[in-house]
Amino acid sequence: MRRIAIVGAGQAGLQLALGLLANGYQVTLATNRTAEQIRDGKVMSSQCMFNSALQTERDLGIDFWQEQCPAVEGIGLNVVNPEVPGQSLFSWSARLERCAQSVDQRLKMPVWMEAFVQRGGDLLIEDVGLAELEALSASHDLVLLAAGKGEVVNLFARDPVRTVFSSPQRSLALTYVKGMTPVSPYSRVAFNLIPGVGEYFVFPALTLSGPCEIMVFEGIPGGPMDCWQGITSPEQHLEKSLELVRRYLPWEAERCTDLSLTDDKGFLSGRFTPMVRRPVLTLPSGRSVFGMADALVVNDPITGQGANNAAKCSQVYLDAILAQGTEAFSRAWMEQTFEQYWAYAGDVVKWTNSMLQPPAPHLLQLLGAASQSQPLAHAITNAFDDPRRFAPWWFDAGQCQSFIQKMSQQAA
Ligand SMILES: Cc1cc2nc3c(=O)[nH]c(=O)nc-3n(C[C@H](O)[C@H](O)[C@H](O)COP(=O)(O)OP(=O)(O)OC[C@H]3O[C@@H](n4cnc5c(N)ncnc54)[C@H](O)[C@@H]3O)c2cc1C
Repeated sequence: MRRIAIVGAGQAGLQLALGLLANGYQVTLATNRTAEQIRDGKVMSSQCMFNSALQTERDLGIDFWQEQCPAVEGIGLNVVNPEVPGQSLFSWSARLERCAQSVDQRLKMPVWMEAFVQRGGDLLIEDVGLAELEALSASHDLVLLAAGKGEVVNLFARDPVRTVFSSPQRSLALTYVKGMTPVSPYSRVAFNLIPGVGEYFVFPALTLSGPCEIMVFEGIPGGPMDCWQGITSPEQHLEKSLELVRRYLPWEAERCTDLSLTDDKGFLSGRFTPMVRRPVLTLPSGRSVFGMADALVVNDPITGQGANNAAKCSQVYLDAILAQGTEAFSRAWMEQTFEQYWAYAGDVVKWTNSMLQPPAPHLLQLLGAASQSQPLAHAITNAFDDPRRFAPWWFDAGQCQSFIQKMSQQAA
């Protein structure tokens, strides 16, 4: 039986581990936090996942929260008027063809870890560094590193061609709350763009204590929403969240008259640099370790794609491992498998990076035109499920113009 080791019990590592077990592989999962530590710890993400990523979980029978988790039925955009603070320049919304869902990773990962052990997986709790990678590679046919943003991923070389930024592009904060007024007639990711300041989006999710809403703040570094330094208590964090919403987004503040945090670990702030790394690490012994998901391709959360990418990466890798049969997992196989994933993830990176820069004039025109054209709003909304659909019209002014015309004719 082939022995595979995976480092990291996140969306990518656990999903792949469960997929391999289901196919008869012997799997070791090494991770640095126990299920209890994850469950009792701070929130890690807002983890909104769209339909095709959720489908990869359904395919493995590990979508345990489908019934309890509130549905995210659409996406809405509100652009604040840069000339008149607190006033909307335009807004639109559209339904997703199939719902998105967000299950708190503090709820999901411990259950998946328990399922992994119950299904015969070997779970090791250890902080993996070079020595542990050497030991795992000596006793397994393949070692995968799915350690997300953990220090250990820095052993993998940065890809200077595919990495665009050298510093964080947003100051990030998450606030998990109860008591927010829902939007009607359908639930949605309510995305607000505040020119020169940053972005705020909020959507329903499932946390440890049941349904909640997750507020996500994306502040441009050095700007007024880059304001989380020195805020350490849950109460201060909630108060700052409310202050920002009241100051910039009165229509969102109206939904927040009776808010409380879901729990005293339901908040987070920080920043990181979006990056692409080379897929293979050569250990001092000469053996190879293959990276996956955030360990290799880490995006700013502005487009909500990281957990989606992790699920899709685990699917691509699972298929490639199964297709390899009893053949060796060579360095060439690893590079080729990563390129298969990059054929998808590269487009996600390009689109996400475009959202981090001041919008090109054609994009402002596109987003504004969507407020007059439901087919256009529908096309933008549903491309979140597979960002390859944004090409070419998102990136090219001429193509964008033709797309707006085509969609507007449909609307007429
Ligand atoms: C503020 C914020 C909001 C987000 N919102 C969304 C969203 O709405 N939608 C979306 O799709 N994505 C979102 N993301 C991104 C998403 O959470 C990640 O991309 C996704 O969780 C990556 O999965 P992963 O399995 O690659 O890594 P992770 O989930 O980070 O898992 C890494 C695992 O490795 C373990 N580990 C780390 N170092 C070591 C070590 N040395 N030894 C052993 N184990 C180790 C960790 O404990 C963890 O179990 C958001 C991220 C942030 C920060």
